[in-house]
Amino acid sequence: MTEQQQQRDDSACAVDLSASELPESNTNAEVFTTTITSAEPESGFAGFGFSEALLRTLADKGYSEPSPIQKAAFPELMLGRDLVGQAQTGTGKTAAFALPLLERLESGQKTPQALVLAPTRELAMQVAESFKAYSAGHPHLKVLAVYGGTDFRSQISALRRGVDVVVGTPGRVMDHMRQGTLDTSGLRSLVLDEADEMLRMGFIDDVEWILDQLPEQRQVVLFSATMPPEIRRLSKRYLKDPAEVTIRTKDQEGKRIRQRSITVPMPHKLEALQRVLDACGGEGVIIFARTKAITLTVAETLEAGGHQVAVLNGDVPQNQRERTVERLRSGSVDILVATDVAARGLDVERIGLVINYDMPFDSEAYVHRIGRTGRAGRTGEAVLFVTPRVRDSTGTPFHPQPRAGHGPTDRSDGGARQHGHQPGTAGPLAQAFE
Ligand code: AMP
Repeated sequence: MTEQQQQRDDSACAVDLSASELPESNTNAEVFTTTITSAEPESGFAGFGFSEALLRTLADKGYSEPSPIQKAAFPELMLGRDLVGQAQTGTGKTAAFALPLLERLESGQKTPQALVLAPTRELAMQVAESFKAYSAGHPHLKVLAVYGGTDFRSQISALRRGVDVVVGTPGRVMDHMRQGTLDTSGLRSLVLDEADEMLRMGFIDDVEWILDQLPEQRQVVLFSATMPPEIRRLSKRYLKDPAEVTIRTKDQEGKRIRQRSITVPMPHKLEALQRVLDACGGEGVIIFARTKAITLTVAETLEAGGHQVAVLNGDVPQNQRERTVERLRSGSVDILVATDVAARGLDVERIGLVINYDMPFDSEAYVHRIGRTGRAGRTGEAVLFVTPRVRDSTGTPFHPQPRAGHGPTDRSDGGARQHGHQPGTAGPLAQAFE
């Protein structure tokens, strides 16, 4: 439960108690109505034209204030404008597009009105779950996630029964469109979520194909953590006079996620991993490894050391992936060992530590990895293991967040084992290496 939810629960409790203590003559409907609804005008979500039902759902979720990207995006999207948003995961970007889209749905339409494209099935699933959670006040609304690795026929029958919002990966969405099982003729809004990831994963042609099939009159919303030229080109070609919103979270991210690198000789990596984990037990941990084989080796070693561990890699079937994420979320396992693709988009609030056991391929992958911690306003730690060979051969082994202007490495350190960008804030992790 978040602090906000806790506070809200406390205040909800206070309302009930005071009401029950009222003298008999005052327990009329008017008193109850006034008391219970008094929290609503304070919601920072009022004033965007959202329905009462949505405001109540947000309050129930413990959301009291819109995040900066939400504040900027809501008015534009509620007007139906196209929008390009540059924001990373963890900024509240899902709600930034999901809430206005939900509010603009029209009742009585049989075919889908909104389509969201996401690079991975994990993100598609997560975005679909968010849509479902935000539409709690409208139980008749149907949201469907379509991605590979799950039963095609059940998706077809759900589409036949009628769906309002479809969230999917480009490949599977294209398959449905090609065979006529996804009718986009009534589509009013399209969202490209994590567009740079879709580009990186080679989906951009599929995305353009989908865009080319859509009705002329439609709203297009594009969110991307970075804006490579190819994404700019896409935006120019397919978006009409879009509102542009850039959320500069770099400094905030830097503060929220404390990053450091540790030089570890290859044969000592497993031992170093144990020490980091011993020092930072408690909250959820994700360990990123480069290959499926390494995820298994790491998991087996940690299990032998008495840890509860789960693995997420490309060999894990879809239904098991969902169970694994749920176990991590509920705390029945604390450590997840994963490859990049398997863990992209994963949103589990209790992740307090990301360990880059193997170096990521590039800085984009690094940003996505460390973005698994520091969720929903929490703080987190990120550790990067660097082998001496890599550090020696490149000088600066890896500059994880070049856009942030403060990577976790420090050349002048001359091979010291630990490098953090916030000296003087040594926590348990630092002590593990002293
Ligand atoms: P996202 O950037 O969409 O992945 O969202 C990051 C996390 O922030 C998710 O766990 C959301 O549920 C949460 N979140 C989004 N908007 C708000 C808000 N206004 N207040 C509190 N939490 C939020």
